[in-house]
Amino acid sequence: MTVNEAQQLVDQWIKKHGVRYFHELSNLAMLTEEVGELARVINRHYGDQSFKEGDPNEVEDELADVLFVVLALANQTGVDLTGALEKNLEKKSQRDPQRHQNNPKLK
Ligand SMILES: [Mg+2]
Repeated sequence: MTVNEAQQLVDQWIKKHGVRYFHELSNLAMLTEEVGELARVINRHYGDQSFKEGDPNEVEDELADVLFVVLALANQTGVDLTGALEKNLEKKSQRDPQRHQNNPKLK
């Protein structure tokens, strides 16, 4: 699935099951919630916290929740994420081409 196909799939899902897009500010709040849920699961898998019974524990599901809201926000703000990601990577490459390679902490 391409990024564009993912944007279309989320658009179709929202129109079929969600009735309409939530307000952009609601989706921004939801993105924050979902990032928090992802942080919680990652902290329990890789950090010092332990799982409680019944806690969600799938990193992939929480990442997908985050991605869903990002795709929805892109759709409703008219952003083509394929092009946006390409431009963003180009910007990073031009701005900091050697930054990470010269970081002794990464060696
Ligand atoms: Mg979630």
